[in-house]
Amino acid sequence: MRVVVDFDACQCHALCTLSAPEVFEFGEDGLLNVVQETPDESLRDKVEQAIRECPVQCIVIEEE
Ligand code: SF4
Repeated sequence: MRVVVDFDACQCHALCTLSAPEVFEFGEDGLLNVVQETPDESLRDKVEQAIRECPVQCIVIEEE
């Protein structure tokens, strides 16, 4: 899977970093970074939780 964020829509609520801290983090610039764009399948549940909890629905999984 590939994690794709629409950074134009992202409002930096940070809920995704709580759901899947292995995948999402904030940089020193205060902007969201996807630190693992192709995370292991073992992280799928956490990524799906981040997708559900993102207030602006700007995270998607693309299957490879
Ligand atoms: S929860 Fe959504 S809006 Fe908030 S930082 Fe994550 S991707 Fe951006």
